[in-house]
Amino acid sequence: MTSSTSPAKFQGIAVLDHKDWKNPKKVEFEPKPFYPNDIDIKIECCGVCGSDIHAAAGHWGDLEKPLVVGHEVIGTVVRLGENCNSGLKLGDRVGVGAQVFSCLDCERCKSNNEPYCPSFVTTYGQSYKDGYSSKGGYADYIRVHEHFAVPIPENIPSHLAAPLMCGGITVFSPLLRNGCGPGKKVGIVGIGGIGHMGLIFAKAMGAEVYAISRTSAKKEDAMKLGADHFIATKEEPDWGTKYFDTFDLIVVCANSLTDVDFNVVPKAMKVGGNIVSICVPEQNEVLNLKPFGLLGVSISNSALGGVKEIKELLDLVSKNNLKIWVETLPIGEEGVKQAFERMDKGDVKYRFTLTDYDKEFSK
Ligand SMILES: [Zn+2]
Ligand SMILES: [Zn+2]
Repeated sequence: MTSSTSPAKFQGIAVLDHKDWKNPKKVEFEPKPFYPNDIDIKIECCGVCGSDIHAAAGHWGDLEKPLVVGHEVIGTVVRLGENCNSGLKLGDRVGVGAQVFSCLDCERCKSNNEPYCPSFVTTYGQSYKDGYSSKGGYADYIRVHEHFAVPIPENIPSHLAAPLMCGGITVFSPLLRNGCGPGKKVGIVGIGGIGHMGLIFAKAMGAEVYAISRTSAKKEDAMKLGADHFIATKEEPDWGTKYFDTFDLIVVCANSLTDVDFNVVPKAMKVGGNIVSICVPEQNEVLNLKPFGLLGVSISNSALGGVKEIKELLDLVSKNNLKIWVETLPIGEEGVKQAFERMDKGDVKYRFTLTDYDKEFSK
């Protein structure tokens, strides 16, 4: 069954010039060619991720314009390609995260590691093989391969589902892959958009949870979010010694792995413990480490999560009725400008979702 209720051209709120990124403009754009496994989704809302700000501001180079960012997309399936066979139906509510393509054929893809596939295409600002530069969710519609659209359980409201698609899965995947659960002591470094979700998920998975932040400013929030303990690293510079042999897992949700003091953190790890960063490193970033400090401890960098893991996350959130902390803003030139400006200042508790798509795009 196919239908074609999506328009020939899509509309979005786009960055037209990196230098003027805080003044996005409403534009019409050509969607990507429609392939037999593609679907069209009419977008209902979209989360605002830190990556959107980096891409818009030009931190990741000069991306093709119009640049329509947004990779925490929730919407309704309105068109199915003739070869679609993933079970999606017209009218299904689905989410799309930060990945819209991979080969689906290599060992990595076959083992649910799509984000690590060499053919990875990210949701906006990257060219597909046919040359089309991908466009994200600050738009009325998105066209993607069906594999990367995940059904949203009924009891998760759309504005709370959106941030799960990138920020949420990014912290959930390393928790899941490193045994977060009952009997485990898990630290989350950096209590922001992603870290706040990390506290909620780690608690729901059954771990004893430590929020690790520079100061005590976010202590009250962290405890409300599910932390059992709070460590202010600036106030206890030698916390590694105080918490010697404590952690099974620490997930670093700070800006950069180079923010982590590797003279301190490994001391707090159990033998066999894992320090996992979810940061997107700057291209030329280099780690300086004394191997001696890493005795018995592993360090790695994680990227997003596979589609199977996204489904597991949605399941966890649905079954436990978890509520992440989200502020909403209406989509539009003004709303996106506000989201960009406030994200740039770190003025959000703890994540934005852009809503009111029908109002903006029915004009
Ligand atoms: Zn993201
Ligand atoms: Zn692959």
